[in-house]
Amino acid sequence: MGNVTVIADDLSVCVDCLLFIANCDVSEERPGIADDIAREWPGVADGSVTLVAGGASDTDDSDGQGFSWHACDGCGSTLGGDRHVATALRNGA
Ligand SMILES: [Zn+2]
Repeated sequence: MGNVTVIADDLSVCVDCLLFIANCDVSEERPGIADDIAREWPGVADGSVTLVAGGASDTDDSDGQGFSWHACDGCGSTLGGDRHVATALRNGA
């Protein structure tokens, strides 16, 4: 492992993404969540990018941000729903 760089620490992701990146849980409603995230974040597939639940700093948490129509930053879903904080990290060479 090399350096890890924070790409974005203010991502707003849907609960399906949150469960997947936190626990690798795939909800029955979103069986293709991994593919959707890989499309939005090509680096995830090859391991160069990691999405993690919660913010980059210790004071942040993954508490819900509440209902939003903002497109999910993880999978690109435009369905309204609860959004949660997530962070994207780039794994250095
Ligand atoms: Zn999502």
